[in-house]
Amino acid sequence: MGQSGRRVRKGVALSSALPSLWDLALPGQPFKCPICLTMQRFPNDRSWRSHAFDDLKAYRCTNPDTGCRERLFGQPDAWFKHELKEHRALSHCLLCGLGPLSRPALHQHLSTSHHEFNSDGFMMLEEGGRNVTKTLSAGDCPFCSSWEGQVRRAGTTPILVNVTVMVDVEQFKNHVAAHQEELAVLALLGLPSRTKLSIWVSQEDPSPQLLPT
Ligand SMILES: [Zn+2]
Ligand SMILES: [Zn+2]
Ligand SMILES: [Zn+2]
Ligand SMILES: [Zn+2]
Repeated sequence: MGQSGRRVRKGVALSSALPSLWDLALPGQPFKCPICLTMQRFPNDRSWRSHAFDDLKAYRCTNPDTGCRERLFGQPDAWFKHELKEHRALSHCLLCGLGPLSRPALHQHLSTSHHEFNSDGFMMLEEGGRNVTKTLSAGDCPFCSSWEGQVRRAGTTPILVNVTVMVDVEQFKNHVAAHQEELAVLALLGLPSRTKLSIWVSQEDPSPQLLPT
C-alpha cells in the first residue's frame, strides 16, 4: 500500500481504534452500523460506542484457568460482575473464619474441612462468605504490565498495600475494559493485537486508514 493516496483527518485522534460517531454520521442522524449492518441512530458518541462494543461482544472473561475463557459479554458491567463474582472476589469461611481465600481455595477448604455439608450448603457458604471487593491490584491487569508503574508514578492517591498498588474496582474495570475494546476492534479489522495504530475513517472512503504511531 502506498502512502500517497491516503486521506487523513488531522486532529481527530481517537483514543480507541473505534471510529467516533462524528466520523460516521451526525448525532441523531440514521446510518448503517458498519458492524451489525442495521440502521441505527445515536444521540452521542457514548451511546454509539456502547452499541458497537455490544455488537462486538468486546468483553471476555480474562480468567485463563477456567472453562469460561471464551465467555463473551456485550456490556462492561455484566462482564465485570462475572469477573468479580467468579474469579476476583476473596471469601472467608463462614464456619471457621479462615481466609481471605480465592473461590477455588474456599471450595477446596469446604470440601476437605467441612465435608458434612452437601453442595447446596457449599453454595450458600460460598455466596455468604464472599467479601465485598473495593480495590484490586493494578499489577493484575491481564493485558499490560505497565499500568502499575503508571499509577505509582502518577501518585493520584493510589492505595498502597505493602508494595502493591491497589486501585478502585471501577478504575480497574475501566482500564481492563479499554484494553478489551481496543482488541475487539483490531480483531474486527483483522489486525494483530500488538499493532499500535491510529485508525481513521472518512465517509468518502470507508476503509480504515492506518497510521503507524
Ligand atoms: Zn450495530
Ligand atoms: Zn469467568
Ligand atoms: Zn472453614
Ligand atoms: Zn493494562
